[in-house]
Amino acid sequence: MQQKNLSIHSENILPIIKKWLYSDKDIFLRELISNACDALTKAKILLSADPGSISVRVDKAKKTITISDTGIGMTAEEVEKYIAQIAFSGAEEFVNKYKNEKEQIIGHFGLGFYSAYMVSAKVELDTRSYTDAPAVFWTCDGTSTYSMDAGTRTTRGTDITLYIDEESLEYLEETKIRQLLDRHCKFLPYPIELNGKPLGNQAPLWMKNASECTDKEYIEFYRTLFPLDPEPIFWIHLNVDYPFNLKGILYFPKLHRRLDAKESTIKLFCNRVFVSDNCKDILPDYLMILRGAIDSPDIPLNVSRSYLQVDKNVRQLSTHISKKVSDRLSTLYKTDRTKFIEAWPDVEMIVKLGALQDDKFFERVKDLIIWKNGEESWTTAAEYLERNPGGKILYATEDRSGPLLNIYRDKKIEFLYANAFIDTAVINFLEDKHSCKFQRIDGQLDDTLLDASREKNLLDAEGKTESSRTAELISRALNRSEVTVEAKSLSSDELPGLIVLNEEERRMRDYMSLTQGKPLPKLLSKKTFVVNTNNKLIQTIARLEKKQPDIASLLACHLYDLSLLSIKELEPKEAEQVFSRQTSILEKLANLLP
Ligand code: ADP
Repeated sequence: MQQKNLSIHSENILPIIKKWLYSDKDIFLRELISNACDALTKAKILLSADPGSISVRVDKAKKTITISDTGIGMTAEEVEKYIAQIAFSGAEEFVNKYKNEKEQIIGHFGLGFYSAYMVSAKVELDTRSYTDAPAVFWTCDGTSTYSMDAGTRTTRGTDITLYIDEESLEYLEETKIRQLLDRHCKFLPYPIELNGKPLGNQAPLWMKNASECTDKEYIEFYRTLFPLDPEPIFWIHLNVDYPFNLKGILYFPKLHRRLDAKESTIKLFCNRVFVSDNCKDILPDYLMILRGAIDSPDIPLNVSRSYLQVDKNVRQLSTHISKKVSDRLSTLYKTDRTKFIEAWPDVEMIVKLGALQDDKFFERVKDLIIWKNGEESWTTAAEYLERNPGGKILYATEDRSGPLLNIYRDKKIEFLYANAFIDTAVINFLEDKHSCKFQRIDGQLDDTLLDASREKNLLDAEGKTESSRTAELISRALNRSEVTVEAKSLSSDELPGLIVLNEEERRMRDYMSLTQGKPLPKLLSKKTFVVNTNNKLIQTIARLEKKQPDIASLLACHLYDLSLLSIKELEPKEAEQVFSRQTSILEKLANLLP
C-alpha cells in the first residue's frame, strides 16, 4: 500500500469543511449522488449504452453508508488527479477570500466529494474505470495523508464508503436517509435504491417539450411539488440551451395567503438533483411570488450572495425568466382580458413589485397595470385619461375616502381604487415616469361638487359674507390651529361637512408614519374642514350661535370629529371625547322632549 500526502494546503481544507458546513451536514448525500449521476451520464455518452443505476446502503452495525454507481469509474491517475489533489487550484486564495463568510462553498469549488467528511471519520473509495485500467482503492481518514491500493471492483463504477463519525450517527437511520433521498432525488435521471428498495423516482415534467404537456399534467406536477397548495392559475415552461442551460416550470399561484418571505417558492435543481428551496439570491424579489422548479447546471451552487450577483449566467438567467413572465402576462392581457382581470388579484403583486424594482420589467408591463374604478369595471390609467382628459387621475381607497365616494359616484365622476398597500409607492413611481398626476378624491374639492347658484356671498354691514361668518364661527368653536375652515355651497345638501387633505402633505405624512412610527409634527397634520352652507345642521349651528353659543360649538366640534371618523383619521384619544360629547348632546336633546 502506498502512503502519500494530500496536496495543496489540504491540511487547511478538511477542518474548514467540517466547521463551515456544520449547520447543513445533509448536503453530503446530495453531493455524492450528484457525482454518481455525472459518472452515469458520462458512461451513457461514452458507451452509448444503458449506464445502470445508483444504490445506497446503510449498515447500522458497521456504521457505514455506501454509495455505489455503475458510472465511468476512475483510473488510479484519475483518483490522484480528481480526488487526492483536491481538484481546484486556488485553495489558498479561496480560503482567504471566504474565511469571513458563513456561506456554503462546497459544490462550486469542486469540493463535493470532500463534503463526505462532514459526517465521516474515514472515507473509502473503490473504483474501476470503464477502460481496461485495474480497479483502485483509496482511503483517507480526514488527515492530510491518504493511501492507495489495488481495488476489488470487477465491473465499471465506484463504491464510496463513509465511516460515519460519532457526531453524525443519525445518518445511520434508514428513515433519515430515505427522507433525504426523497427530498433530493425524486426526479433523478437514473434508477436509485436504498438498501435494495427502489426509490420510485420519476422524470420531471420540465424535461418534456412544452408542446407535449397537457394542462392536467402541469397541474398534477404542481401537486407533486406543492401538495398542499390550491391549483395554480397559469404557468410558464422554460427551456433554454444557449447561452446558458435552463429548464423548468414556473407557476403563478393563487395567493391564498399573504406573502410570506420564509415560504419556499421556487425549487432549484441541478441536473435533476434537488439542491435548494432557496432561489432568493438568483431571482429578483418580485419573482419570488412564483412557485415551481428550475433546473440549471449553470447556477454556481452554494456560493456567497455577492458572488452570485455578479455571475454572468445568473444575471442572464434571471433576465430571461423575468422576460418570460412579462411575456406570459402580456399575452394573457391581449388574448383574454377577462381571464387577466380574474387573475389580477393574484398577479398584481408581481406586476407592481416588478415595475418598482426593475425598469426593464416596468417597460414591458406598464400597459398591463389595471385599476378598478368607481363603477366596478377595470381600466388602465391611459384609458382613464382618454375618457377624462386633463392629466389628473382621481383615486380613492375603499376604506378611507368616506362619504365623498358616494358623491363622486352619484355625480358620475370617474375615480380609480388604489387599495393595495403597495399602491402609494406605485402611484409615486407612475407620476415620476408619466406626465400624469394622481390625486386622492379628498385631496381637493372638485368644482363639479359645488353649486355656485346658491352661494351665500352677499356682503353684510361689516363687509362679510354669510359663508365667511359661518366659517369663522365654526373655526372659533373648533379652536384648532391646524384646521382651516371653509364654508362652501355644495350641490348635495345632505352632507354637513368633509375634510380635505392636501395631497402632497398627506403623502408625506403617510410616508413618515409608515417609516418612523412616531407622532408627526403639527405642520403635517394640517387639514381643511369644508362645511356645507346648504346643509340644515350647518344652518342651525349658524343660527344658534347668538342664542346658545355653547350648543353651537358643541355641534360644530362633533361634526368635525364625525367627518374625521368617516375617513378613519380620528385619533383614538379623540374618539373618547366623541363618545362623551355624544352623550351630552343626547341629554340636551332629551331635555327638549315633553
Ligand atoms: P466536482 O464534482 O464539483 O467536480 P468533486 O470533488 O465532487 O467535485 O469531484 C471531483 C471529481 O472526481 C469529479 O469531477 C469526477 O471527475 C471525479 N468523481 C467524483 N465522484 C465520482 C464517481 N462517483 N465516479 C466517477 N468519478 C467521480
